[in-house]
Amino acid sequence: MTIPLGEFDLIARYFTRPARRAFLGVGDDCALLPAPAAGEQLAISSDMLVEGRHFLPDADPEALGHKALAVNLSDLAAVGAQPLAFTLALALPQAEARWLEGFARGMWALADAHDIELVGGDTTRGPRNLCITVLGTVPQGRALLRSAAQAGDDLWVSGTLGDARLALGYRLGEWSLDDVAQATSFARMDRPTPRVTLGLALRGVAHAAIDVSDGLLADLGHILQRSGVGATVHADACPASPALRTQSATRRRLCQLAGGDDYELLFTAPTSARDAVQAAATQAATAVTRIGRIETRPGLRLIDAEGQVLDNAYAGFDHFRPA
Ligand SMILES: [Mg+2]
Repeated sequence: MTIPLGEFDLIARYFTRPARRAFLGVGDDCALLPAPAAGEQLAISSDMLVEGRHFLPDADPEALGHKALAVNLSDLAAVGAQPLAFTLALALPQAEARWLEGFARGMWALADAHDIELVGGDTTRGPRNLCITVLGTVPQGRALLRSAAQAGDDLWVSGTLGDARLALGYRLGEWSLDDVAQATSFARMDRPTPRVTLGLALRGVAHAAIDVSDGLLADLGHILQRSGVGATVHADACPASPALRTQSATRRRLCQLAGGDDYELLFTAPTSARDAVQAAATQAATAVTRIGRIETRPGLRLIDAEGQVLDNAYAGFDHFRPA
């Protein structure tokens, strides 16, 4: 049902709550927030979800509300920042109450789970496009950077990899999945869990970090490039869900190495910090797995369980690469 909601009604009805930490929240020309405390830095990141590119027109609006915020929180997690607030820029073809209610419900649930407030944004009529900008804080000099990996570091990843790609392959008709595998893999694709608590716990423990959005090897490539190092990855050591463990080795590798949308943390830490990494994982109630090693020698080497070198044919996702 389409209802004749104006922009201001829409904002008032779905996206306005009393300001808390903000001096001034939604509804004025700007939001006003207290400046970070002395010795703290602001961490800022934007991520956009576009209909037809990142989600289908019939996607569940509640899951979209969750995911639009989750992918942004994941970027804060990747630098070890504490989430603070966010803005929302929304283009919609029409102000449809059912869609807006669902979207707002998914978004607020995740916002409340991380105790962050919506402080502003914009709405306009247009092809459906969801853009969130998150703000967080991190003590000066303690952010986890892509450029901080050092030769000799262990390479770690949180949670499990490849489920979102497993779900996508089913949706694209590349393979079939049983009901249980469908349910678990679609849950991972539609409602990713940003590893915020783990990112915070890894400050002062990990060297470099990134969140896995474009695919493990593509995102690892960013760390290697920025840090001026290479790596060996044990392809078969990548943590897999029960659904993925039942798939062929070829499909599992494709999903885990090249599949995007996992939103796990990929990070490096010195071997002397193994106990500290495990302690951080326990504190965050998030499993972590060692999958390789950072090396002086440039390039990315993939090996299997027997130590045989695998062809690195698993490029990650690049939005602007010709198909
Ligand atoms: Mg990222």
